[in-house]
Amino acid sequence: MKNLILLAVQGAGKGTLAKALKEKYGYEHISTGDLLRERALVGDELGMKIKNLIDNGIFVSNDIIFEAIEYKISQPECANGYILDGFPRNLEQAEGYSKILEKLNKDLGVVINMTIPDSLLINRIIGRRMCKECGAIHNIYSEELKPLKEGICNKCGGTLYQRDDDNEEAMKTRVETYFKVTAPIIDYYKEQGILYEVDSSDMKQTLMSVEEILKNLGDKID
Ligand code: AMP
Repeated sequence: MKNLILLAVQGAGKGTLAKALKEKYGYEHISTGDLLRERALVGDELGMKIKNLIDNGIFVSNDIIFEAIEYKISQPECANGYILDGFPRNLEQAEGYSKILEKLNKDLGVVINMTIPDSLLINRIIGRRMCKECGAIHNIYSEELKPLKEGICNKCGGTLYQRDDDNEEAMKTRVETYFKVTAPIIDYYKEQGILYEVDSSDMKQTLMSVEEILKNLGDKID
């Protein structure tokens, strides 16, 4: 399977799409946000620094990210295809990632650019609830993703929580940063002819669009 990079503003559904593709095809899902949140839990000096940056919607330094990515994609679970969610996030990361791939002799694969109307974005972020146990993403404003019982995960019965950075203030910073810093990556990958665009307003449709793109490219998903 081809490796995938998901590009989108936060709240567009990168995590939900990655989890669906993982469940259906067995991709390894690499979310740099999840990796960093796990690292923050250690609670040491670096962990607290990372938590503070995340809670305020500010980027963690490229060096920390590169090290985490290089380590993760070298692991055996990534050998059959992985999905990057939340990385690369700026041009320097995109260029750094190309160098890491060259060093490891791996293919970049396909870049999926997920678009979403602004009107849907706010509820996607403010309504998001994550499961503490299994990480499943819910949304109190979505018919499909709504918790059937308030505060309880539909998948495993674990407790749901709201991320500290899923508030309007941090969201504003994240969305502004995305359009200023992350969006230029779109052109970087467009020029390489590996960028495909999908609408992410309706997740079932989004998944089907991605499957169609991969099949048209002759990728061995089935
Ligand atoms: P996410 O879960 O992707 O929304 O990421 C949450 C937060 O983690 C971001 O707002 C950043 O503070 C940090 N983060 C995640 N991925 C990266 C990255 N590739 N580069 C820098 N910071 C990141």
